[in-house]
Amino acid sequence: MYLKLSQGMDSDKMRDMNKTVLKIFEYAAQKSEPDLPRMKKFLDPDGHWLLAACEKSGKLREYMEALFSEPQTQRQSVYEAFRHDMDFDKNTEEKDGFVFLEDSLDKQIKQKAKQIVLWLYENSFKKKINGERSGYKAFKKSLFFGNVKNPPDICPSCLAFQSNLSKYGEMDHFFPKKEYPALIFHPVNLTCICSVCNGSCVKGQKNPGERNRLWEIYIPYLLAAEEEVVLRIQRDNKGGKEWKGPRIMMVPDKNKKSKYTDKRIDNLDSLFNLSDRWTDEMYRFIMIELDWLKEKAEDEYEKMLRYRSDMAKEIFQNQKWNMVGAVCLSYMADSGLRLVKKYMEMWKEDEEKMKKGN
Ligand SMILES: [Zn+2]
Repeated sequence: MYLKLSQGMDSDKMRDMNKTVLKIFEYAAQKSEPDLPRMKKFLDPDGHWLLAACEKSGKLREYMEALFSEPQTQRQSVYEAFRHDMDFDKNTEEKDGFVFLEDSLDKQIKQKAKQIVLWLYENSFKKKINGERSGYKAFKKSLFFGNVKNPPDICPSCLAFQSNLSKYGEMDHFFPKKEYPALIFHPVNLTCICSVCNGSCVKGQKNPGERNRLWEIYIPYLLAAEEEVVLRIQRDNKGGKEWKGPRIMMVPDKNKKSKYTDKRIDNLDSLFNLSDRWTDEMYRFIMIELDWLKEKAEDEYEKMLRYRSDMAKEIFQNQKWNMVGAVCLSYMADSGLRLVKKYMEMWKEDEEKMKKGN
């Protein structure tokens, strides 16, 4: 996530859901049989949505029985892992040395625990129960309302415009459901992004914690890239990249940089392919600018570039959401006439080639 997210008004409700989910596993850790009426009493009064789901479905009963077919010590380890992992957002500093216990759970018991939480998510949270409005819809609405309002329709992750983002944008599990069932209802794990960012070609099921520790990751509500990086157009010196020309890159803001900033940048970039996507955008943007400049007299270029550069400075100060465009304007202004002339020449060559081709 490039921009920092704020937790919506419904995040407390999600924390209550988390507590209820945890209670199920506490029950499973303590008891010897999956007695649903007793479990309902154990959950009361905060688990009313869950109780309705229990009543309705034989599936949940089946999944609970599958969980109870595992030894009690295994069920206790699930409860301990869930309880521990649900507090991940309070332990993100290096000194905490936090690692997710779910990563080391036995595969079979984890699978059984996951099918319970996933079932609740898909069948209870996302759908109407006994005519009640689903929590999912309300939560998604509050999330987008709180984070996509200034101006509307800019994805907090890639900063791209997507028409009617509140409707077509998606709620992403930052740490994927597949690997972190304890975080399925966690408000700090639910983010709003555009459908491109959430698609399988970009983030999809990627796990931010696969290669990095918690303090080496930008966690959208706690620490975001915008707080310690700036966007810049420069050549990528790291090698390995096919394209050696200038790219838009996230680089540490020298006044705010910490010793983990570089790792966090790499993590974010590999999750959302931001540098590649922004660089494509950059070439489109520069072409449009040059097309506009081409209409002016050549001796006006410099004045125009200065004017656009001032505009970029204003955008940097007031409109964080339009940063990719602002970075391009600054780059063009800083590169000055050299860049404009270079592109103009390339343009002419292309036009001549086209003419010859025809
Ligand atoms: Zn996006």
